[in-house]
Amino acid sequence: MISPRIFEVINIGLVILDPDLTVRHWNRWMELHSGIPEAEIVGKSLFDHYPNLNTTRFTKNCKSVLTFGNFCFFSQKLHRWLFPFKPVTSFAGMFDRMQQSCTMGPLRDDGNAIRQLFISVQDVTEVAAYERRLVELNTRDPLTGAFNRRFLDARLPDECERHKRYGRPLSLLMWDIDHFKRVNDTHGHQCGDEVLKSVAAVVGSELRLTDMLIRYGGEEFCCLLPETQIDTAAAVAERIRACVEAHCVKCGDETIRITISIGVSELDSDSAEQEALVALADKALYEAKSSGRNRVVARLLA
Ligand code: GH3
Ligand code: MG
Ligand code: MG
Repeated sequence: MISPRIFEVINIGLVILDPDLTVRHWNRWMELHSGIPEAEIVGKSLFDHYPNLNTTRFTKNCKSVLTFGNFCFFSQKLHRWLFPFKPVTSFAGMFDRMQQSCTMGPLRDDGNAIRQLFISVQDVTEVAAYERRLVELNTRDPLTGAFNRRFLDARLPDECERHKRYGRPLSLLMWDIDHFKRVNDTHGHQCGDEVLKSVAAVVGSELRLTDMLIRYGGEEFCCLLPETQIDTAAAVAERIRACVEAHCVKCGDETIRITISIGVSELDSDSAEQEALVALADKALYEAKSSGRNRVVARLLA
């Protein structure tokens, strides 16, 4: 049995439940984070206070622990949390709930019969925050906040695979700021950076949540549009082009206006290769540039 003293000072939550899921113990850590004193919850069903746990999945897990004596793990990556507690670390702003890694297991009597089950709750908010930050650093461009090339290289094969397997449409916009060198030359590199940030924000705000804005390199970007056919993608591109044209970037006392050229392509079912998709959008972008800039050119594979 767990020594009651350890039970109270240990830096994890511990709950002991009877087979009918009535709470038998609720340690100090659980009191602190839930705001519910042990005296108030002991003797009651866990679901009285936590109806969110009353799911088939959770009760199935409890049954399996009580019947077979196995352990169940509720990883933060899959479940995020079991008990809806407020986060307490300095990374709290990243999450609306304390991120938890929980384990459920059997408690046996001297004759080895399973009498109760325990749930341990570990606060892993800080680790989850560092993980999220690492992923962001690895996949985001620090200047604009758009995804970076590494992200595209990892994501594009997956999106192409989805297209091949389920026949879902996928379109790509490649866009590049017109005469951007002039912006740097006239207003300075810092203003150039402001323009990049501001234009990326304008384009990002025109995309759906499932679309992805990627900084391809320098002042060239692309937008990956899942579930989108070329006609819709071209309409999105035209809307983006017009928004950027109408947008003013403030840099110090100066107001800078720029335009972009956009090439649009859609993945083809005969040659669903990512290289073909990128090459075609790139070719369309080149055509948009050479035919006067500030325009959209859409191309399907011939
Ligand atoms: P075009 O219309 O043909 O695209 O002309 P352009 O001047 O935009 O193209 P060019 O490739 O000649 O110049 C791109 C410029 O973008 C040159 C480079 O210094 C600038 N650039 C690339 N990355 C950054 C960046 O992060 N910040 C700033 N300020 N400038 C950048
Ligand atoms: Mg350019
Ligand atoms: Mg360029």
